[in-house]
Amino acid sequence: MSAGLSPTGISWTHLPGLGPGHVLNPILGCQHAGGPGCDLCWAEVDTHMREKSSPKMAAANAGLTVLRRNGRPRWTGTVNILPERLAGPLRKRERVGIFMPSKSDPWYSGVLEQTEGVDFVRAMMGLAVATDHVYMVLTKRPAAAVEFFEKLERDAERDGIDSGRLCLIELIDFLWNAGEKKLADRVSRMPSRWPAPNLWVGSSTERQQEHDLRAPHLRALRRHVGLTWLSIEPMLGMVELDPDNGIGWVVVGGESGQGARPMAIEWVECISAQTQALGVPMFFKQLGTIAAGAACVRGAGEDIDAIRREQGALGSLPGGDWSRREFPPIPEPRR
Ligand code: SF4
Repeated sequence: MSAGLSPTGISWTHLPGLGPGHVLNPILGCQHAGGPGCDLCWAEVDTHMREKSSPKMAAANAGLTVLRRNGRPRWTGTVNILPERLAGPLRKRERVGIFMPSKSDPWYSGVLEQTEGVDFVRAMMGLAVATDHVYMVLTKRPAAAVEFFEKLERDAERDGIDSGRLCLIELIDFLWNAGEKKLADRVSRMPSRWPAPNLWVGSSTERQQEHDLRAPHLRALRRHVGLTWLSIEPMLGMVELDPDNGIGWVVVGGESGQGARPMAIEWVECISAQTQALGVPMFFKQLGTIAAGAACVRGAGEDIDAIRREQGALGSLPGGDWSRREFPPIPEPRR
């Protein structure tokens, strides 16, 4: 395992033709973004548990969560930036898919308002310029992501370089200051390419309301990154996709864990039909804890036990079009 880079069981990170998927968390800590998708944020729980683990892990996760009266942890809004973790992908020889970060949102204001926060997110994007791994980045704040990339472009133009070179310069700085001088030197000799085809930036969305607020920003994001995509997970309602958003991939999944809310198979079937019509690859991740026919989902709190009883039968449904596991084309390595 390279520093800060860990193998993961998240199925959509296992890209065809590449090594097993990984996660990289150079920033830790977040805040709920609005909308019910954050209500059961698993990263809050995971982060809270790590606060009580080994001293090194505890230090990285300290102060990021508090325990509420109901026994569930909640983000404090504090963010920890861990520049030494940027070295992980540079040391990894085998090409892999990397979900980065899985326990924060790079465009959460608490990240960007940190001293050097914007520079650090630029350095993270610089990893896609410096390596051939495929970086899968998710945000619930795509409007802030658009602002970030537009400012990056303006600053690069002002300096007479391209956005990729500016991201590499920030990466070199953070590596150097983290004591990774050989890696910094290696990165300083790398050519730029922008937009990086291996930088995939997507928006998480859970229902139509959140989709309509967030997905249109992907249109503006498209020219700055290799691929824009949607993660409809946890899926909490029917979603009608906008064909003009230029989305290149859709991941769908139900919620799992304690208190998980139901997902109707019909919602997934609807996404399947839309993605097929649009010619967009779709990856069905999981049914989740409670999968039900739409007819069974009658309202909050109603008949949840009946839905749970049905889960076994629904869980054994034969794979249909709705359970497709497709990927977008994987960019060719440069070397
Ligand atoms: S944006 Fe993601 S990491 Fe942040 S609170 Fe919401 S679900 Fe958790």
